Amino acid sequence: MLLTTIVGSLPKPSWLAKPEVLWAPWQLSGEALEEAKRDAVLIALKEQEAAGLDIVTDGEQTRQHFVHGFLEAIEGVDFGRRVTIGIRANRYKAEVPTVTGPIRRRGPVHSDDARWARAHTRRPLKFTLPGPMTIVDTLADEHYRDRPRLAMEFARVLNEEARELAALGVDVVQLDEPAFNVYLDDVKAWGIDALHRAIEGLSCRTAVHICYGYGIKANIEWKQTLGSEWRQYEETFPLLAGSRIDQVSLECANSRVPLALLGLLKDKDVMVGVIDVAGSAVETPQQVAETIRKAMAFVAPDRLYPSTNCGMVPLRRDVARGKLRALVAGAALVRGELGGSALKSGGTGA
Ligand code: ZN
Repeated sequence: MLLTTIVGSLPKPSWLAKPEVLWAPWQLSGEALEEAKRDAVLIALKEQEAAGLDIVTDGEQTRQHFVHGFLEAIEGVDFGRRVTIGIRANRYKAEVPTVTGPIRRRGPVHSDDARWARAHTRRPLKFTLPGPMTIVDTLADEHYRDRPRLAMEFARVLNEEARELAALGVDVVQLDEPAFNVYLDDVKAWGIDALHRAIEGLSCRTAVHICYGYGIKANIEWKQTLGSEWRQYEETFPLLAGSRIDQVSLECANSRVPLALLGLLKDKDVMVGVIDVAGSAVETPQQVAETIRKAMAFVAPDRLYPSTNCGMVPLRRDVARGKLRALVAGAALVRGELGGSALKSGGTGA
């Protein structure tokens, strides 16, 4: 119980990509870049294992951005036609590619990455993919001109990809859907359907990550406009509770999400964000434990997975390492308390 994991990304070494920025340019090219990416995955796995994480990821070391890293391998998405648009309901500007023709996978996108990671860790492995709604929100479209339809097209290729990842021994496929906290009506109208299409027939566990974004300035400022209680999850959690997704990853550390909303997820596994990713202050194990204890009022410990609020890619590496250790130490504190109380009451503490 209280198995620890991260949302997905870790900072990249400075010899691989420019540190502390999103869409960081690579420092190498050609075969040297490919080799450096593989080396960085080994480091990401090793650092998670050394910190004591129970479920590990490849740290998303092989992609420049969590959405565009997938889109680069998709036919119909033209990176030669980049335009700057406002994304996440115009919260911030991003340079995005344009859909100019039918969406099709040229071939496996992340199979080599997953195979490499699988071969180098014996721990349960999670692999992240961008969710259909978030993909649609992170590109321009001159072909379909219909967001729900485009989302279903991406869900189809995500499903092809996810099935391959599961066959390679990935234990959890997670779809990242920060857009679910922005377009609440669309989640209901077609977002859940698109998720279901993406996970159709998968043999592994499935997860969706819904957050308030990376710890970048535009997101921190946006959060300040959301009032004293963030209730976006109130709309989506009942829909997810009734969905076929196994696990939901959400933001709790230093957030104004009323924790009672976690109860709306019913019997789903819940990856509770107990590590803030905005800023460089490293939590103490006691702070982490306190957030876990509060969440346990609404989520049973065998369904509660202490995690990070979001990806850690924009952080300094030493900060991210400290946060990994705090995450594990905080979970261990609470596990110890549960073991103790179970023993006192005659239980097994399992
Ligand atoms: Zn996130």
